[in-house]
Amino acid sequence: MEGKIIIISAPSGCGKSTIINAILAKGEIDMQFSVSATSREPRGQEVDGTDYYFLTPDDFRARIEADAFVEFEEVYPGRYYGTLKSEVERITADGHNVILDIDVKGGVNVKKLYGDRAVSIFIEPPSIETLRERLTGRATDSPEAIEQRVGKAALELTYAPAYDNVVINDNLDAAIATVEKIIKDFVGR
Ligand code: ADP
Ligand code: 5GP
Repeated sequence: MEGKIIIISAPSGCGKSTIINAILAKGEIDMQFSVSATSREPRGQEVDGTDYYFLTPDDFRARIEADAFVEFEEVYPGRYYGTLKSEVERITADGHNVILDIDVKGGVNVKKLYGDRAVSIFIEPPSIETLRERLTGRATDSPEAIEQRVGKAALELTYAPAYDNVVINDNLDAAIATVEKIIKDFVGR
């Protein structure tokens, strides 16, 4: 049987990567991370092929032309992100479940595409001010990039009602446990 699709979305800095990595590290769910392609530069300790496939804008456009994406979005001006068909197919064809960390528009599109084969989870910050503090504390983005991300968050938060589940990431351990339970219930169905 083909694997299921788990979609996690949220404004940048809400804790998606932290929550996903904690659940993957526990290893209790048969689930693999879909590595997206992006035209943005690597930041911090990010590794090509693990965190993202880092492509030049020309390479990214070539993949669009080749119809290589399930979906793609220009999440920030000039910065493209996309879910590769090859990733989702490679993982789900073997019966493994796949987890996608994608933006709010991409998440809604993928849910529409896969219907009941997918579950969508929206992570909310306790407040915009907390979000700003977390992005500042992460220390991977310039002050301009942080303002750009915070500035986009209010609009992104309006997508929450379109998701199957909304989880507030206030206490991290509680948020991890809630997201893990949602995924376990879904894949066990
Ligand atoms: P995203 O993947 O959504 O962009 P990250 O997982 O990188 O977000 O989290 C942003 C920052 O906030 C990281 O430095 C992370 O350690 C921190 N963080 C995540 N969740 C919490 C939480 N519940 N309380 C405090 N800090 C958190
Ligand atoms: P970051 O630059 O912080 O890694 O990611 C910025 C935003 O792009 C996040 O909201 C993240 O979920 C989103 N993103 C990452 N990969 C994809 C993808 O393949 N498709 C879409 N639509 N968004 C993505």
